[in-house]
Amino acid sequence: MATQMQLARQGVITEAMKIVAEQEHVTAEFIREGVANGTIAIPCNINHKNIIPRGVGTGLTVKVNANIGTSSSYPDPEPELAKLQAAIDAGADSVMDLSTGNNISASRQAIIAASTVMVGTVPMYQVTVETIKKRGAVVEMTKEDIFDVIRQQAADGADFMTIHCGINKNVLKALIDEGREMDVVSRGGSFITGWMLHNDAENPLYEYYDEILDICAEYDVTISLGDGLRPGCIADATDRAQIQELLNLGELTQRAWDKGVQVMVEGPGHVPYNQIAANMQLQKRLCHGAPFYVLGPLVTDVAPGYDHITSAIGGTLAAVSGANFLCYVTPAEHLGLPDLNDVREGVIATRIAAHAADLANGNKQAWEWDLKMARARKVLDWPAQLDLAIDPVKAKEYRCRKNKSDDEACSMCGDYCAVKIVGQYLEEHMRKN
Ligand code: SF4
Repeated sequence: MATQMQLARQGVITEAMKIVAEQEHVTAEFIREGVANGTIAIPCNINHKNIIPRGVGTGLTVKVNANIGTSSSYPDPEPELAKLQAAIDAGADSVMDLSTGNNISASRQAIIAASTVMVGTVPMYQVTVETIKKRGAVVEMTKEDIFDVIRQQAADGADFMTIHCGINKNVLKALIDEGREMDVVSRGGSFITGWMLHNDAENPLYEYYDEILDICAEYDVTISLGDGLRPGCIADATDRAQIQELLNLGELTQRAWDKGVQVMVEGPGHVPYNQIAANMQLQKRLCHGAPFYVLGPLVTDVAPGYDHITSAIGGTLAAVSGANFLCYVTPAEHLGLPDLNDVREGVIATRIAAHAADLANGNKQAWEWDLKMARARKVLDWPAQLDLAIDPVKAKEYRCRKNKSDDEACSMCGDYCAVKIVGQYLEEHMRKN
């Protein structure tokens, strides 16, 4: 079966392209053209049956991902299904199953079966857990261990997969030669780095990349080129290892497109505010306009407990400067596995960052939403304001808790409500003239 990208190049407009065009208020031909040239990806595995496809890329609204999944400390998959629903209810466009607890396959299959949004995975997590069980250490991992998991996750319906194939011996040399404060903070990146150093061998994900692409093409999995050496602290941002890996990701992007495989490219990480725009421009140039998927970026290292805010600050600038897909960061980042409320807060904070970028990027739907809110505020129409809020649940809770039910204004200015006072006098002025 042909991939979306292959069909787009043949001039075919697929059902998924039509759905995305309708969501985005653009023509189906615009979507087809973007998918054909790689600037738009529609991650949509042929085996993910209940997905409502979404597009990621140039000319589309900025999308938001929520990470869920078990850990060795919290191996029960049930709470992760509740988090999936919380993420969807809060407006996430995508979830990634990052499970590393017991029975990873069962968790993933349950999440894909229950998810109407795209589901991403990181096969290296499962490879590592299973290799340690089978052989005692991740450094004993074989090519077969890796490919068995990639094939299984593709067959299960993963819409996109993070593959840490950009790390090769040159990248590791750059990391070691220049040195870093935080070394490697990506989990997948750390497994691959450890394996390469221990075995003094090339990264199998890089060496056998074409075989991975063949699996992706078979199920129309979008390959998400992982940045295994993403900077994990402000001091390491935009260093030699990060840029060396990005150069590789540019080459790997073209090789995937040559096989008709859709691509997203993953990005940093922790980046100071003044370096974010340059990072985005560099990625877009080196990866030939492929959709860019960023984690944050977090603009400071010193706010654990508030990293949904540090990442939202960076996320807006990233998305104004070219990023297309923001991975959420929750208040629990750097501290522990997020709970249900962390998931909700993380999705909303990231949606705010994405929407602010949509406004700055001139998206018509985004402007109409804000305009409706402004008009509801002008006439103190509280039901409309609460319904239009990005988080109606929280907005309603505040409105009820802080005001009496018949208050026309709100308790912020009470009798001195500026909106009410000017509204009255303007009305009087209009009547007289
Ligand atoms: S009372 Fe103040 S904050 Fe509340 S609606 Fe009026 S102007 Fe706005």
